[in-house]
Amino acid sequence: MIQCLTCGGTYSPTSADGATYAHACPPVWDPPSKTYVERANKRDENPPAPRVLEPLLAATAPPHTGAGDDPKNALRQAAIVSAGAGVKVVNG
Ligand SMILES: [Zn+2]
Repeated sequence: MIQCLTCGGTYSPTSADGATYAHACPPVWDPPSKTYVERANKRDENPPAPRVLEPLLAATAPPHTGAGDDPKNALRQAAIVSAGAGVKVVNG
């Protein structure tokens, strides 16, 4: 199990059918506004939208040489929307 250090939630990185689970912290109740709001340091493991990710890859990834897999694919798969306070591995 993985514990999110932002919201304290625990989850398995894969669901029962083997699919990868992407955790995103749930919103919290904000009494003054009487609405649910996103946390300031929300963790969101979903992949960024291509319009956000592709310019970052263009600026940081080495150029594709044509040999083997495109190194940008690994970065694309590892990228998440926001890391929040991080995670730790917990038992159970
Ligand atoms: Zn969380």
